[in-house]
Amino acid sequence: MDFDPKKDYYALLGVSETASIDEIKKAFRKLAVKHHPDRGGSKEKFQEINEAHSVLSDEKKKQQYDMFRKGGFGGFGDGAGFDFGNFGGFGGFSGGATIDMGDLGDLIGNIFNGGFGGFGGGTVPSRTAKGEDLKRVIEISFEEAFLWTEKKISYERMQKVDGVKEETCKECWWKGKITQAAQTMFGTFQTQVVCPTCHGYGKIFTKNGKPLANGGLEEQKETISIKIPAGIKDDAFIKYPEKGNDGIGEAPTGDLYLKIRVLPSNKYRRKDNDLYVKAEISLFDVVLGGEIDVPHPEGKMTIKIPKGTQIGDKIKVGGKGFGSKGLFQSKGDMYVETHINIPKKLSKEEEKLWKELQSLEK
Ligand SMILES: [Zn+2]
Repeated sequence: MDFDPKKDYYALLGVSETASIDEIKKAFRKLAVKHHPDRGGSKEKFQEINEAHSVLSDEKKKQQYDMFRKGGFGGFGDGAGFDFGNFGGFGGFSGGATIDMGDLGDLIGNIFNGGFGGFGGGTVPSRTAKGEDLKRVIEISFEEAFLWTEKKISYERMQKVDGVKEETCKECWWKGKITQAAQTMFGTFQTQVVCPTCHGYGKIFTKNGKPLANGGLEEQKETISIKIPAGIKDDAFIKYPEKGNDGIGEAPTGDLYLKIRVLPSNKYRRKDNDLYVKAEISLFDVVLGGEIDVPHPEGKMTIKIPKGTQIGDKIKVGGKGFGSKGLFQSKGDMYVETHINIPKKLSKEEEKLWKELQSLEK
């Protein structure tokens, strides 16, 4: 479930329960600017208003939230009536919070908020589902995408607090919910509500006798070494198992998904697995043939310019494109795009020689 019926989203956004979606969006935009972490706002507050907005601006979610809030809906039973859609796959990639990672700002761009929402404060947890998968975006240079790259990245994930003690909740006996009688105009109904003692975890998590929130999890910095395969394409995903949020209690850890952004280059471009390089060539080299140095992600390369190369010709260098053995069926090629330097100014001597050449043509 991606909302918490105990929270007053309307109050968070400062709107009335009868506010239109437009009014809700407007109120959110105003608050988002005010509380944006990039402008010194609090991350918690920002996440809270984000959460409120994501629920209230979505007709379906808003309806569910309103129902739960009014308590007219029975049972926080395992998944009954909840929309888990947004938790699967990459559905949650839109409009997450941008969190500045400080010194790693260059490396990690937008942090998508998908995995954090549920920990804001008392969302009914699932005691058996694994920890949330996390999604991060990482930017690499064109050159890094060409070769195998190893990088260290740091990010925040929910981790088990060291020395956490777990005890079965004495109020609900691990059910996470308790039964209450509710009076309605149709009579008395038995409804199940989240256990107020353990907040639905079914267990009490403590450290040194003090209770811990969030099922004994805490947001902590994680640093991992990642290997990015040679030839990786822009927008590719890499999955790192068990590097997402820890699960609560015995539940397994979620996974980390890295979305790779390959930054454009002013030297190179890519087409499928072929590498295109721009090179400046003198008139002499194209007329007489010659050798020039061209850049290559593996280091400078010397290539032959065949005699009589024409403007716009591409010189192919086989097997010097993207890909590495075992990962691709075949390695791409390199194409050198020639830009011929036509002399703009000639000395008297040069002009004389050109004229002699011209007379030979006639
Ligand atoms: Zn309980």
